[in-house]
Amino acid sequence: MTTTSSLPAAALDPARASSLAALATGGGEPLASTCPWDGTMLGEVPTATREDVLASVERARDARRAWEATPLRERAAIARRVGALARERRDALMDLIQLETGKNRLSAFEEVGDVILNAAYYARTAPRALRSRRRRGLMPVLTSAIEHRLPVGVVGIITPWNYPLTLVVSDALPALLAGNAVVLKPDSLTPLTALAGLELLRDAGLPDGLMQVVPGAGRDIGPTLVDAVDQLQFTGSTATGRKLAARCGERLIGCSMELGGKNSMVVLEDADVARAAAGAVRACFSNSGQLCVSIERIHVADAVHDAFVEAFVARVAEMTIAGGLGWGPGMGSLASPARVAAVMAHVDDAVARGATVLAGGRARPDLGPAFVEPTVLTDVTAEMRVAQEETFGPVVSISRGASEAELIASANAGGYGLNAAVWSRRHGTRVAPLLEAGTVNVNEGYAAVWGSTDAPMGGLKDSGLGRRHGIHGLHKHTEPQAVATQRGLPVAPPPGWSDRRYAEVMTRALAALTKVRP
Ligand code: NAD
Repeated sequence: MTTTSSLPAAALDPARASSLAALATGGGEPLASTCPWDGTMLGEVPTATREDVLASVERARDARRAWEATPLRERAAIARRVGALARERRDALMDLIQLETGKNRLSAFEEVGDVILNAAYYARTAPRALRSRRRRGLMPVLTSAIEHRLPVGVVGIITPWNYPLTLVVSDALPALLAGNAVVLKPDSLTPLTALAGLELLRDAGLPDGLMQVVPGAGRDIGPTLVDAVDQLQFTGSTATGRKLAARCGERLIGCSMELGGKNSMVVLEDADVARAAAGAVRACFSNSGQLCVSIERIHVADAVHDAFVEAFVARVAEMTIAGGLGWGPGMGSLASPARVAAVMAHVDDAVARGATVLAGGRARPDLGPAFVEPTVLTDVTAEMRVAQEETFGPVVSISRGASEAELIASANAGGYGLNAAVWSRRHGTRVAPLLEAGTVNVNEGYAAVWGSTDAPMGGLKDSGLGRRHGIHGLHKHTEPQAVATQRGLPVAPPPGWSDRRYAEVMTRALAALTKVRP
């Protein structure tokens, strides 16, 4: 494993940090953002108090009135400009993302690329997906029906630290295009990147007040936000998501929950082993494994097990880990020293209970306080934490299976159901629906589905409720309203008819109608 021990200065221009901080809404205690490579302070942003959160929601509500009347094509034009600005500012955005999260440059590029992709997708799709549609009325000619898509109001968005630009801009865009306002609480590790996302939207022409960012601790201001908004879009852990979904249930407001995963990759015996091994490196260690759709378990057919393990472990052993803003390292750091402790607790527990380390397995304090080696385990058994819980770091376990059915059963074991991958020359699309996951990639780890923005993305089982991306990603931020207009005859017995006569005539009419239009 190659490493770089001397870090370039991990600093952000103080003037830039201040201009971002000025975009935050709040008058509470300052929140420091630091670089995980070496703990350098990047800047401070004000946090929002509960009163600030309530005032933000009210301001957003006011701003929304004019926005709702703004034609869809004008809203879409703002999304298009967001994509253009993200392209222009690509390098500066990647620098900031890397400094705040510690990820390598390629993973930071994936974030900016995602924003460009989503902005173009929603700009193109929203005007068509959100326009009002005729529906079949009760009585031909006499009843006309139409379905409108009304905005829900103010959408509260709560985001984690792992994709701090993508999950801010790409999730805010569909909510905004659907005619809503947004109040967003970013994770406390990554407030500056969230504010750079807000800046993109504002510079693209988003009216003042329509989107506000309220930094602060989830336990302090999260519940206040959930209690004030009209809908919640939450991305984070299953434990927090469960609590917040219950709170939304009490209020009878809609929520979309993008939660954790313990994602499986299945390598069938007809897989191209070399490609599967290369794909597994991307699937397990992109973003240092801190990706909701990261592969954490690989289940390999007996016939190709040894060849796969040899090829995969050789590639992992060649990976470079380093901090710094340059292109090249295969992995950066984790997001914080606390994440190192959580990841190493899984590795240490597995090793203490008899797991074998095939690659990595160590924290690397010599590189900085948040570095961990990409780690491959085998001989993992069901009682180990790494078998049960999401690790959310660069750790994967490999097991083998004697038959396709056995491989599928071990891939489906456990409570999560976010993402899965299957590698096979001939059977991928047949096996995919047998895997209990909201997204399944065939001959790729996660990027094929995630990048297919026209397809819905989200989790089964404990991995969530609702979907992002696709038409669904827009429609979920609306309430359908049905309007039906009756002409001529009322939906009632005409004057002079008895109820019985009306019921008989209607029964015949309904029989004819349902035959023509079942
Ligand atoms: P987390 O649940 O601890 O925190 C996520 C966000 O929720 C943060 O902004 C945090 O401040 C806030 N929060 C925490 N407690 C809160 C409370 N009581 N009320 C309101 N807000 C609260 O999650 P994390 O561990 O920091 O993030 C990683 C998790 O996110 C992983 O489980 C990962 O799989 C998941 N994730 C899922 C997706 C997806 O699309 N499914 C995408 C990215 C990350």
